[in-house]
Amino acid sequence: MTGAAETHRVLVIEDEAPIRRFLAIALGSAGFAMEEAARGREGIEKAATAAPDVVVLDLGLPDMDGKAVVAAIREWSQVPILILSVRDGEAEKIAALDAGADDYVTKPFATGELLARLRALVRSRRRADAEPPAVAIGDLSVDLARRLVTVGGREVKLTRKEYDVLALLARFQGRLVTHRQLLSTVWGPAHLDDTHYLRIAVGHIRDKLGDDAADPRFILTEPGVGYRLA
Ligand code: CA
Repeated sequence: MTGAAETHRVLVIEDEAPIRRFLAIALGSAGFAMEEAARGREGIEKAATAAPDVVVLDLGLPDMDGKAVVAAIREWSQVPILILSVRDGEAEKIAALDAGADDYVTKPFATGELLARLRALVRSRRRADAEPPAVAIGDLSVDLARRLVTVGGREVKLTRKEYDVLALLARFQGRLVTHRQLLSTVWGPAHLDDTHYLRIAVGHIRDKLGDDAADPRFILTEPGVGYRLA
């Protein structure tokens, strides 16, 4: 770390003081500057006043539903939000993702995984700001300007919907995209529950890219939640 390096600000909204203390040490040693809030209301205020680059939000807060915190921040900010969920909180987690959170880790979480997710969110935000024309993952290239997909330099022919699914994942590379986000963007809001459309399309994309669902190089499955591009 050098003094000239850019420091990313993380806002942690978490009511458990031991977790905040742990995160302050882990984030500090990884070069992040941490702001903290113990309650949802205070967190929403700090999301405005502290101008964080990324927000870490515990869904189990004493004063507010985590989904409501996400929705309140999303009224005026596109700051990436990573949620901390507990293992039996699937429905709440998915509701928070659909309300506009970007990713999650499950408690108890591994520090390395949390830091990797935070870095991906900050990078992805910067990429979205810069609107890059092409995304590369290993030998896969998705050229968003030309709608051209290649693996190892050879063009891959996708249907329009298959391309749209892959392009959405590519725009959010490294970030989780939920079933609802994919279905509503690619098939339209009337098809939010047609997850089989998505499953079939992703199967075809994987076949055409030569990707193995059991050991994926490109498209990773988050069971019951969505997909992410590696
Ligand atoms: Ca909590």
